[in-house]
Amino acid sequence: MLKINEIFYSLQGEGYFAGVPAVFVRFSGCNLSCSFCDTNHGSHTIMTEEQVVEEISKYPTRHIVITGGEPALQLSAGFVARLHSHGYFVQVETNGTCRLPDGIDWITCSPKQPVVVPDRINELKELFDGERPIFNPETDADVYSLQPLDTGDCVRNAAITEAAVEYVKNNPRWRLSLQTHKLLNIR
Ligand code: SF4
Repeated sequence: MLKINEIFYSLQGEGYFAGVPAVFVRFSGCNLSCSFCDTNHGSHTIMTEEQVVEEISKYPTRHIVITGGEPALQLSAGFVARLHSHGYFVQVETNGTCRLPDGIDWITCSPKQPVVVPDRINELKELFDGERPIFNPETDADVYSLQPLDTGDCVRNAAITEAAVEYVKNNPRWRLSLQTHKLLNIR
């Protein structure tokens, strides 16, 4: 049984797969309580794994994004294998504080502390505060995405984004990640 906050179809807005149509499966609950958290992940519906597969199969994409909250609290290798058996590519978005099961196709870690627990991640997606990556953990990744912090103030946001462009140009390990779903006003 899984505690599911919501399942919806949209475009991946951020990071390496920005623009890719994806079904988002948001697991309920998180082990952190960040002051800047903008995700209402508390409420949930109890669903079986098969019910989740049934729901996501209503949409034409094969790209699944498992997010939260913190999906590592509930995600199992068995569920990942079940998704694979239905032909899905499984991307997981994690805060990096918990171990993850084997078999995940793409792990995006948006760290909320300077340590990343999983041995392997594909993408480090870091927030940039206008001066530096905020948590900047020592970890290897295939892709390093730098995302300007959304302060809720458009003037400040523009200054942070401008600074992020300069930071990426000076530190080319990084690439810029924008929250395109907010620019497009989609989910
Ligand atoms: S880790 Fe993410 S989901 Fe959890 S409280 Fe922090 S911002 Fe919210």
